[in-house]
Amino acid sequence: MTTTAPLLPFPASLPQLASFRRIVVKVGSALLVDSARGRLRHAWLAALAEDIAALHREGKDVLVVSSGAIALGRNILKLPKRPLKLEESQAAAAVGQIALARNWSEALNHEGVAAGQILVTLGDTEERRRYLNARSTIAKLLELKCVPVINENDTVATSEIRYGDNDRLAARVAGMASADLLVLLSDIDGLYTAPPNDDPLAELIPVVPRITAEIEAMAGSAGSELSRGGMKTKIEAGKIATTAGAHMLIASGKVKNPLRAVESGARCTWFLAPANPVASRKRWIAGALEPRGTLHLDAGAVAALRRGTSLLPAGVTRVEGTFQRGDAVVLRGPDGAEIGRGLVAYDADYAERIRGRSSDEIATITGFEGRAAMVHRDDLVVGGG
Ligand code: GLU
Repeated sequence: MTTTAPLLPFPASLPQLASFRRIVVKVGSALLVDSARGRLRHAWLAALAEDIAALHREGKDVLVVSSGAIALGRNILKLPKRPLKLEESQAAAAVGQIALARNWSEALNHEGVAAGQILVTLGDTEERRRYLNARSTIAKLLELKCVPVINENDTVATSEIRYGDNDRLAARVAGMASADLLVLLSDIDGLYTAPPNDDPLAELIPVVPRITAEIEAMAGSAGSELSRGGMKTKIEAGKIATTAGAHMLIASGKVKNPLRAVESGARCTWFLAPANPVASRKRWIAGALEPRGTLHLDAGAVAALRRGTSLLPAGVTRVEGTFQRGDAVVLRGPDGAEIGRGLVAYDADYAERIRGRSSDEIATITGFEGRAAMVHRDDLVVGGG
């Protein structure tokens, strides 16, 4: 007699790790560093390096975004347990990053894989020229079969000019490297309908086809003690990664060999990228971490954008922020949900004056012949859906 097949934890049609060709794996501080003693978990890292090497042997490119510099450095420097001041974090990162990189290099070398360290600052992804530069370094390392190990350059980052959390940094890297999958290894195994520590009835969501306002509301805000990002920054990362054409996966890193566990069907949450990935310049627009303002749109404009048109001033109901022509802005629908991002064709004060008006009224209002579109379709990225 045949036994019944075990129940799959999610529909069998969901993607499998084996089907991706370029994977970014983000590792949080809380996994890599033992919070009580501030020491690196060597055995866990060794097992993760095995998983990475296995994917590498299958011909996949793997990139690592690893936190842990500050957590390690603060222990080495015996800094107090209270939240650190900026200069203390910078010093801790300077000390801890050496240890972090050495441990990654040794763990990967042990599996026969070379690691290359890349430290990035916000400007490396937000300025187009530097972005292209960092992208070609990554491409070269991958061509040479190295695993880039990436972190924010926390020693020079100040509070105004930093990512601050490696979730969004990792999503930006996924876009920059044209990865098709971002895996966020976390101390939680996925997105729940409510923060599970507060709500015992919270349920894990196996797949998020599109990040809606409802999904954003499920995220809550709390991070764990060592890492900066909570579920909120993971959802932000999901928006950046999926718009850039990469699926994202939140999975537990609390187990040994966490990637192997995902392959064997461990619970996790998939965030799916839309079927038609956007071109590389649009990916860069989509991932802008510091949009300068927000344009609120009426339902008609949202529908038109989803059909692929430019955004006309007539569909803009409200303008927020002090942006200049060419800056990145967020586009929100009538329900407040983000529907896309774009480079705006007008400064904020002009945008305010022409919003809601038909394009042929614009010249009269502004006193000069402007572009008809508020955001041209070539400068626009609309999220999946
Ligand atoms: N870049 C920080 C570090 O390496 C971590 C940021 C985060 O926890 O997301 O310590």
